[in-house]
Amino acid sequence: MRTQVVIVGGGPSGLLLGQLLHKAGIESIVLERQSRAHVLGRIRAGVLERGLVDLMGQAGVDTRMKAEGFVHDGTLIAYDNDMFRVDFTAHTDATVLVYGQTEVTRDLYDARDATGGDTRFEVENVVIHDAGTDAPFVTFGENGHSERIDCDFIAGCDGFHGVSRKTIPADVRQEYEKVYPFGWLGILSETPPVNDELIYANSDRGFALCSMRNANLSRYYIQCDTSDDPASWSDDAFWDELRRRIPPQAAEALVTGPSIEKSIAPLRSFVCEPMRWGRLFLCGDAAHIVPPTGAKGLNTAASDVHYLNQGLRQFYGQGDSEGIDRYSERALARVWKTQRFSWWFSTLMHHFPDQTAFDKKMQRAELALLRDSREAQAAMALSYVGLAY
Ligand SMILES: Cc1cc2nc3c(=O)[nH]c(=O)nc-3n(C[C@H](O)[C@H](O)[C@H](O)COP(=O)(O)OP(=O)(O)OC[C@H]3O[C@@H](n4cnc5c(N)ncnc54)[C@H](O)[C@@H]3O)c2cc1C
Repeated sequence: MRTQVVIVGGGPSGLLLGQLLHKAGIESIVLERQSRAHVLGRIRAGVLERGLVDLMGQAGVDTRMKAEGFVHDGTLIAYDNDMFRVDFTAHTDATVLVYGQTEVTRDLYDARDATGGDTRFEVENVVIHDAGTDAPFVTFGENGHSERIDCDFIAGCDGFHGVSRKTIPADVRQEYEKVYPFGWLGILSETPPVNDELIYANSDRGFALCSMRNANLSRYYIQCDTSDDPASWSDDAFWDELRRRIPPQAAEALVTGPSIEKSIAPLRSFVCEPMRWGRLFLCGDAAHIVPPTGAKGLNTAASDVHYLNQGLRQFYGQGDSEGIDRYSERALARVWKTQRFSWWFSTLMHHFPDQTAFDKKMQRAELALLRDSREAQAAMALSYVGLAY
C-alpha cells in the first residue's frame, strides 16, 4: 500500500487531521489500535476552544456541534465557601463550547466514512520505519496479516502511550515532566448540571469541578489519591464528598443520581521536544499532556493539528517545506503557554499533601487577586478561551 500521510491513532487529533487533509485533497490512512466502539466509549474532554470549533468548521463537521453544543461565556471559581465569576466576553472576543470529546470523535468518524476515508481498526504492532529518511514506511498487523504502507509523512497522533514518540531517538528527544501527587475521580450521571456554567472549587478537602455535557448529563470531579480504586467509591460517598467541597448554595442545588461512568485520571504535565523528527510529526497527547484543570488537552491537540495541516498543505500545494520545517517550533511555542496555564490553574486550585500554612495563604491571596482584579481575570480569560493560533 501507498498513501501520502499515515496517521497513527484514530483519536480526535488523528481524525481531525485526516479530515482537514482530505479537504485539501491529501490522502491519508488512519491506523487505530482499538475498536471504534472503544474509542467512542472513552469519556474525556468537554470544553472546546474557538480554535477547535473553527477547525471542525473547516473540516466540514460542525453541524451537530453547532446545534447541540452549549456556548459558555464565563466560569465560576469557588473558595472558602465564596464564589466569583470570570466573564470571558468582558475580557476577550471569544467564548468556549461545551460539547463532548466523544461527540467530536463520532462526528469525525461519520465524516470520514462519508468521504470514503481509509481507517483500519484493531491494528497491532504498529512500527514506524525510516522516519529519518525520505522513504518512510509503517508496518502493522491486521486480521492476522502483516501489512506495510509506504508514505511521504507520518503523523504520530497515538496519544501518550503510543509508539510514535518513542520512535524519535532517545538522544534527540528531550522530555519534561511534572507528576502531581493526586488524581481526579470523575463521574458521569444522567442528572441536570448543578449550574449552567462550570464551577471550579478549591476547598480544604481538595479540589472539585462541576461540569456538564448537556442539559441532562453532568460530569463531576473530585481530587483524590492516585492509589484510590474507583470501585471503592460508592456513588453516595462521591456525592457526599462533592457536596462538602462546593459552596453551600451549589451543594443544596445538586441533583444526584446513579453514576454511568466512574474513573480516576492521574494529573501530569509533560512535553516532548522536538515534535518533529525527519518525516514523523507528533500531534496531541503523543507529544504533551496537561493536567485537566482548565481543559487544555484536546484543545492543544487541535492547535498542533492546525499547524501540521497548514504545513502539509503548503508542502503539497506550493512545494514549500517552510511550514513542516517550522512545525515543531510553532506548535511548541503555543504548547508551552498552555502548559503554563494548566500548571498555574492546577497549582491554584488543588490541595497539595506537602502544602504549608504559607503555601495556603499564597493560594488564598492569588484567588483573592483573581476575584478582585480585572487584569488578573483578563489574563485568565485569555488562556481559558484559547490563545490565538
Ligand atoms: C478524564 C479526562 C478529562 C479530560 N478533559 C479535557 C477537557 O475538558 N478539555 C480538553 O481539552 N482536554 C481534556 N482531556 C484531554 C483530552 O482528552 C486529550 O488531550 C485528547 O484525547 C488528546 O487527543 P489525541 O487524539 O491526541 O490522543 P488520544 O485521544 O489519546 O488518541 C490517541 C489514539 O491513538 C490510539 N493508539 C495508541 N497507541 C496506538 C498504536 N500503537 N497504534 C495505533 N493506535 C494507537 C489510541 O487507541 C487512541 O485512540 C481530558 C483527559 C482526561 C483523561
